[in-house]
Parts: sequence; C-alpha cells; structure tokens
Amino acid sequence: MNPTNLISFDDTSVAFSYKSNQELNKANLIFTVVNYPFLSKVATSAVKTAFAFHLPVRSLIRATVFEHFCGGETIEQSEQTIRKLAGFHVGTILDYSVEGAKSEEGFDKTAEEIISTVEKAKKDRSSIPFCVFKLTGLADMELLEKVQSKKPFTHDERSAFERVKERVYRICSRAFESDVPILIDAEDSWIQGAIDSLAYVMMAEFNHSRPIVHNTFQMYRADMLTNLKVALRTATEKKYYLGVKLVRGAYMEKERSRALKLGYPDPINADKAATDELFNQGLSFCLENIEKISLVCGSHNEFSNQFLTDIMSRHGIKPDDKRIWFSQLLGMSDNISFNLAKAGYNVAKYVPYGPVEAVMPYLLRRAAENTSVAGQSSRELKLIRIERSRRKNGHPALSQSASGSN
Ligand SMILES: Cc1cc2nc3c(=O)[nH]c(=O)nc-3n(C[C@H](O)[C@H](O)[C@H](O)COP(=O)(O)OP(=O)(O)OC[C@H]3O[C@@H](n4cnc5c(N)ncnc54)[C@H](O)[C@@H]3O)c2cc1C
Repeated sequence: MNPTNLISFDDTSVAFSYKSNQELNKANLIFTVVNYPFLSKVATSAVKTAFAFHLPVRSLIRATVFEHFCGGETIEQSEQTIRKLAGFHVGTILDYSVEGAKSEEGFDKTAEEIISTVEKAKKDRSSIPFCVFKLTGLADMELLEKVQSKKPFTHDERSAFERVKERVYRICSRAFESDVPILIDAEDSWIQGAIDSLAYVMMAEFNHSRPIVHNTFQMYRADMLTNLKVALRTATEKKYYLGVKLVRGAYMEKERSRALKLGYPDPINADKAATDELFNQGLSFCLENIEKISLVCGSHNEFSNQFLTDIMSRHGIKPDDKRIWFSQLLGMSDNISFNLAKAGYNVAKYVPYGPVEAVMPYLLRRAAENTSVAGQSSRELKLIRIERSRRKNGHPALSQSASGSN
C-alpha cells in the first residue's frame, strides 16, 4: 500500500457528526458498561433473567442499547435513523433481526417482513441501497442440515423445503422486479452449503442483466478463497453477475468447538493473520474481476477498508463506483463509515430492527464483542472518549488514532 495516500479514519468529529452530545454520552455509558468483563457479565445475565421473568426492563433496554444499535421496532420507526444516515451520505440496509422464528407461520411472517423492506427500498433507493436476509429466518436449521447432508428427505421434509425455496424465490423475485440488490447472510458451515446452493440458483435466475442477489463469503474459512473463485467461474460460464459480500465470519468459536466435538477437521484458518490475509486476497480477487462482480465489503477492520480504497485507486476505480460498497453495523465503527462516506465512497450500515425482546440475542452479541480483552478499552470506547473530550474542549483537531489494524 502507498501510506501517503491512505484514507484516514481518525477524524472523530466526522465519525460522530450524526450524534448529539446527549447521544454521545449515552454511547459512552453503554460502551463503558460492556467494556468491563465483570459489569458486562452482570448486566447481560441480569437482562436475560429479567426477560425470562417478565420483569419491566423493556423501557430501559429500549432507551439504551436498543436505541444505540437498532433503528426501531418496525420499518416506520427506523425512518429517523434512515434519514439521519442519509444526511451524511450513508445508506441503510434494513436488517429484520428477529431470531428464532421456529414455525412455518413464523417463517412466512419473516418472508413477508423482508418483502416489506424491499418495498421500502424500492421507494427510497438512494437511502436504502440493499436489503438483506438470513436463511435461518425462513427455514428450520435441522432441515437445512439435512439438505446439506444429502440424506433422503421424508415426505414432510420435502414439502417443507419446497416452501423454503418458494419463500426465497418470492423475496428475490420481488427484489429483481423492484431493482433492489439483496444480500444473503452467511451462517454456520454445516448449513452454508444449503444456503450457497439456493443463492446460486437465485443468481442464475436474477443476475443476468445486473447483480441483484449477493451471497456472503466468510474468509475465516480455509476453503473460502477457492469457493469464491469457483463461484466466479460458474457465474462466468452461466453468464450472470456474481454478487459478493465479503466478511471474515462471525461464528468462529462455535465452528471450532463443533469440529472438535464431532471429530472433523476445523474449517477455520489456524490464526487471525491467516484470516486477514485471505480476506485481503479476496478483496484483490474481486477487484481484478470487477467487470463481473458486485462487491460489498462487510468489515470493521481499518486496514482492510484502507486496503480496499488503495486497490480501488490502483485499478483506476472511482470512489463512487456503484460496483463497490463498504458496510458496517449501526452503532459500530462510525469512524470508518462516516470518513469513507465523506471521501465519496459508497457506504451502507446494517440497521437492525424488530421487537426489543426478539433482537435481544443480537444486542447481547454486540455487548460480548465490545467487552474488553486484557483490560484494554475497546476501540469504540476510545473513539467515543476522544470525541467527548474534543467537544468539551472545543477542539476542531483530529483525534489520535484509537485503534490498531490488522
Ligand atoms: C456489514 C456486515 C455484515 C456482516 N455479515 C455477516 C454474515 O453474513 N455472516 C457472518 O458470519 N458474519 C457477518 N459479519 C460479521 C463479520 O463476519 C465479522 O465477525 C466481524 O465483522 C468482525 O470482523 P472484521 O472484518 O470486522 O475485523 P476484525 O475485528 O479485524 O476481525 C475479527 C474476525 O477475525 C476472525 N478471527 C479472529 N480471531 C481468529 C483466529 N484466531 N483465527 C482465525 N480467524 C480469526 C474472525 O472471523 C473474527 O470475527 C458481518 C459484518 C458486517 C460489518
């Protein structure tokens, strides 16, 4: 990389420009609590117990972590967040984050809700550049495992899987008709084969004239760069665009412990450096083939985001080229999102929404992710503190860099 031309993510005044002082203070409180392992543990188990016993903690959660990490309980309630982000040229990806809908009725309801996000995006393409769904919101996990195992279906399983395919088709065809690109999230490796198969059937159907359906590639998996290359070869042979969301992968501990328990080879790279290397190789591969690929880089890693801007410029690709998007989660890595958007890159934040109780698993994962390791403040907390002190002292200056990189 050429260090002199690199985009800087250090300007916290840009990063938090969409937050009032009150909102920044609230963020400080939230990240301070989750930063301390003991406090975080006490707070999360208190919240779990309170929900289990129906204690009145809903409004407290709603006014704190929920407000920080989510758009609202419905699409309508997320409007204010969509507008706020759009004011800074940051797009929204409405993420219906209800987990554990385990019945056919629940799966149908989730499919309808995702279609509502497509309808919403159709009316507001400039603020909502993508929609997203998880297959486990539409299908039973055990059924997907069975699909991947290629064991024969029972009669009931066959009809259940037909209904899953019908839901996926309904969502993707609506996205196609509405000209709204859609992302399919990646999940556990023991069902990812089933997700991939459906994603490629949908791409073959809807990606001929433009990239609508995007599959996710988790680069913490040792086989994933090869999978990406094979996916491009197939797309090229079948003459459709390959929609790619590149991420590192969120389920490492689960993957490793299942592999150990069941005695099969761990599918995850041996260490973080190997994942970083593969992720950046994946970005390079996508740029080398950008004529046939639409890329969403889903990462909070500063180096990877800088690396992508750097290789874009080497390939002579303009920051606002519609084939390349940067994406982060609402309430995290605002220093990356808002500084990229200010420099003219295409940026969109995942904006989770759904009833408070139903998004609790998502919120607990965010808390765990931001809990301190080895007594250091999390990157988010450092950035928030730098910005609070900048505002207090009235300094227009840039912050000290608050984080490492790869
Ligand atoms: C917009 C967006 C969409 C996302 N969508 C998905 C999705 O569909 N599916 C999904 O699984 N995740 C998804 N994620 C989460 C993502 O996979 C990562 O877990 C998260 O973003 C942290 O990785 P990072 O690139 O931000 O950077 P970093 O914080 O630098 O990397 C952390 C990641 O590195 C990897 N890692 C850490 N330690 C090791 C180790 N010892 N050995 C090997 N690898 C290691 C893990 O993947 C870990 O999550 C998404 C993230 C974003 C921002």
